[in-house]
Amino acid sequence: MTPRNTYIEHDKYLGTITIPNVKYFVCRCGEESVSGEILQKIDEEYKRLLSELLLKRLSSIDDINRQYMTNRELVAKLGITRQAIAKNFLIKGRIFNIVLFGQRYYLRESVELFLRTGDGRFPLVNEQKPNMSPKTPVLLSAAQSIEIINEQSNKNSGNLGINTQKSTAF
Ligand SMILES: [Zn+2]
Repeated sequence: MTPRNTYIEHDKYLGTITIPNVKYFVCRCGEESVSGEILQKIDEEYKRLLSELLLKRLSSIDDINRQYMTNRELVAKLGITRQAIAKNFLIKGRIFNIVLFGQRYYLRESVELFLRTGDGRFPLVNEQKPNMSPKTPVLLSAAQSIEIINEQSNKNSGNLGINTQKSTAF
């Protein structure tokens, strides 16, 4: 069992989901033992990241109505009741949506895709292809990379401390 301090997940729609400062273990077989608390954090981060990525696609307030439909429009489009939409977690989970000014909006593109295929999600970020990069012949796991970065920054801040002491001595 290897302890880890940062949970990292590569989501095919949202890209990298990072949850810092959590403790969990990875088995030799690769299985992660993640607590319910961490799952809750992943869920929250997924929602936060989704909103962030959807907001990036909006260039103005007018774009909201161009890119999104309201609950009322969705009811008409799907031909089911508002209550049925509220109860059906698959709809909210599979159609990209965002809450703006206290109202939930559904991405039109995602609604159309949902109607065609039953899943309205699509990649909102360019898929990373680390294997294609010749600069990284040895592929470190993201968690390992973060550990190395942390070690380096700790070292740097340590050096900085010594330098500060030296300069104040003069
Ligand atoms: Zn195992």
